[in-house]
Amino acid sequence: MKKTMKALVKSQAAPGLWMETVAVPEPGPGDVLIGVRKSAICGTDVHIWNWDKWAQETVPVGLVTGHEFCGEIAATGTAVTRFTKGQRVSGEGHITCHKCRNCRAGRAHLCRNTMGVGVQRPGSFAEYVCLPQENVVPIPADIPDEIAAIFDPFGNAVHTALSFDLVGEDVLVTGAGPIGIMGALVAQRAGARKVVITDINRYRLDLAARMGVRHVVDAAQEDLGAVMQRIGMNEGFDIGLEMSGAPPAMRDMIRSMNNGGKIALLGIAPRGFDIDWHEVIFKMLTIKGIYGREMFETWYKMIALVQGGLDLSDLITHRLPVADFANGFAAMRAGHAGKVVLDWG
Ligand code: NAD
Ligand code: ZN
Repeated sequence: MKKTMKALVKSQAAPGLWMETVAVPEPGPGDVLIGVRKSAICGTDVHIWNWDKWAQETVPVGLVTGHEFCGEIAATGTAVTRFTKGQRVSGEGHITCHKCRNCRAGRAHLCRNTMGVGVQRPGSFAEYVCLPQENVVPIPADIPDEIAAIFDPFGNAVHTALSFDLVGEDVLVTGAGPIGIMGALVAQRAGARKVVITDINRYRLDLAARMGVRHVVDAAQEDLGAVMQRIGMNEGFDIGLEMSGAPPAMRDMIRSMNNGGKIALLGIAPRGFDIDWHEVIFKMLTIKGIYGREMFETWYKMIALVQGGLDLSDLITHRLPVADFANGFAAMRAGHAGKVVLDWG
């Protein structure tokens, strides 16, 4: 077993990430050491690269970053019973405490003490990543490495989309980033009637259309009221999936919901923006915040959706050797990418 490895480290309190040689993590008794084959760049990684206010407050300098990955088990701790060397796996990047009320009740996605892989503890932009065995998810042979490497954001999409019953409902998805597009595709597969996705970025709108989202709307050009008329909707959206984090998108959504509509809120908006609370109250809307994935029901559904025929491969617009990581980050930062997957060779 090697003692050192290559990793993308936040080694300076400044924009950027640096490829460095660091120690291979030492698995504790209940841990699994995974040799990373592919890892994908998340919007969170872009925040860490940019070193914005959130990143400065959250991420320790010196951290190995990254949390979207697929790999192969390289070693197991002495107390690991469920896994063996050589198994293909991905893993849940939220490490939960097992002690709080929600963890104890089997609702670990609601843990009060969640720690993020690649955010607060060493991540998967590395040749090896170490996870507690309960976070490791075996990947069936019919799911390619690169798809398993985007299961973390796919899980955000699945968790959000499946928060409410979609059968026969009209669904608005705001934000055609990778998560919004996946959320819209899941809504279509789950039996929604109309699924409309909005964005203001032409590249993302074209990608959504190419991926098969049926109604793609440029929110900067077209009014949602006119869209609803054009596609034969009379009353308003039943379900909203907010996947942009943009206050104007949230306002558009609230305005376009039917009475009794339900909104799942994944996009991370800036603090303190205003919405029309009268619309929330008098339309009797339900708004549900979404964080991460349900452990581990979302993972089950993700695997089942892909095995059931949901093809996400065209969402991966950049497949790069890890040496080209800077180009991958540049494409992400420009908004000219779907998912960027790095190959660790
Ligand atoms: P992304 O930044 O790639 O996509 C967001 C999209 O929203 C962009 O394409 C952008 O052009 C679009 N947008 C901006 N203004 C808009 C407007 N007015 N109307 C419609 N669209 C608009 O992000 P992503 O990786 O797809 O993630 C989606 C959101 O979810 C982000 O806000 C991200 O921070 C958040 N997120 C939350 C969680 C969670 O657990 N809650 C996890 C992952 C990501
Ligand atoms: Zn907990």
